[in-house]
Amino acid sequence: MKSSRQPAPNYSGPKTSVRQLADLADPALTPRIVYKVGSALLVGGDGQPRRAWLAALVAELAAARARGQDVIVVSSGAIALGARRLGLAKGGRGSLADAQAAAAVGQIALAGLWAELLAAHGITAAQVLLTLEDLEDRRRYLNVTATLGRLLAAGAVPVINENDTVATNEIRFGDNDRLAARVGQAAGAAAVLLLSDIDGLYDRDPRQPGAQRIPVVKRVTPEIHAMATGGSSSGLGSGGMTSKLQAAEIAGLAGMALGIIDGQPLSPMAQALAEGRGTVFLPRAARGARKAWLGGKLRVKGQVHVDAGAARALAGGSSLLAAGVTQVAGDFARGDAVAVLGPDGATLARGLSEYDAAECIALQGRSSHEHEGILGYAPRSALIHRDQLVLL
Ligand code: GLU
Repeated sequence: MKSSRQPAPNYSGPKTSVRQLADLADPALTPRIVYKVGSALLVGGDGQPRRAWLAALVAELAAARARGQDVIVVSSGAIALGARRLGLAKGGRGSLADAQAAAAVGQIALAGLWAELLAAHGITAAQVLLTLEDLEDRRRYLNVTATLGRLLAAGAVPVINENDTVATNEIRFGDNDRLAARVGQAAGAAAVLLLSDIDGLYDRDPRQPGAQRIPVVKRVTPEIHAMATGGSSSGLGSGGMTSKLQAAEIAGLAGMALGIIDGQPLSPMAQALAEGRGTVFLPRAARGARKAWLGGKLRVKGQVHVDAGAARALAGGSSLLAAGVTQVAGDFARGDAVAVLGPDGATLARGLSEYDAAECIALQGRSSHEHEGILGYAPRSALIHRDQLVLL
């Protein structure tokens, strides 16, 4: 069957940015969107897929495409579906081996379900399975970007999940909230929408009397983090509010909005918009693609501690010089991502180091004119150049 619309071949992103939840349905503000669907929505307590609910959601996605939005799906549910078929305890999450086996079985069913329901609207589904490393390594990340762009231009809906069967703990996202944010970033999406079992972020545990939903969050501050209680209430997924806030931070730094709505009703997006219920995290200033990738990176190879003077200089847009470095930790090579920590231990920035860890240790606290003598070769202008540095 032919796809029902012709997406713009020269995708160039939104013109201005999202201010409210309703903007996520507006193709001018959100020309490309990632929908993240959690396990508890897709799989019932009996371990069977919730077909009727999913069919209604797919109708919403088809409507979004008909409005002119490019749609990407990040779908959980492989482990939950596979666990039931293999008869594994704890929903397949009892051990890594169980989760990997369950995912291998469940992913086929999951992809088949999406393909079938999208096909009913004349839409071709494309399965993409990713691991953390596919998005942390710049070259592989760019490859993912190219593939997603090509799929969307060809009219397909990418249906993405973590490649749980091969991802061991070290190379796992573990939750699809952060995966969705990283995918959105790789695809140049304007927004990520997390369909959750709760209708947004509350100022305290939502079960407490007087808890208030926060409709718009400008920036994920420590106060906002304190509001998240953590842990998934359903026991099926692995997300919880903590991972949703991490996803919101990645999205914000990449210039994307992130919405959280209650995914439980039939046609959840229409319902959330009609009732104005949800939380939207606004994008922070859009930055260049390379800096956005760096800002969203989840793993660093080392830490560089700096003094107050260097912290001020970084905030003012300078490169990091060795003279302001007080301590270096970790085993990293030139070009690896490192975190920059201020005197109070808070992470100030993330950047790509111009030197390996041993060289950084040799140079720490030393002013630039001493560097050549210490290294025995021509030094670089900074320990981390400002072009390779992103303030958090
Ligand atoms: N990738 C997992 C699955 O498909 C889900 C991860 C999550 O719950 O966020 O079952």
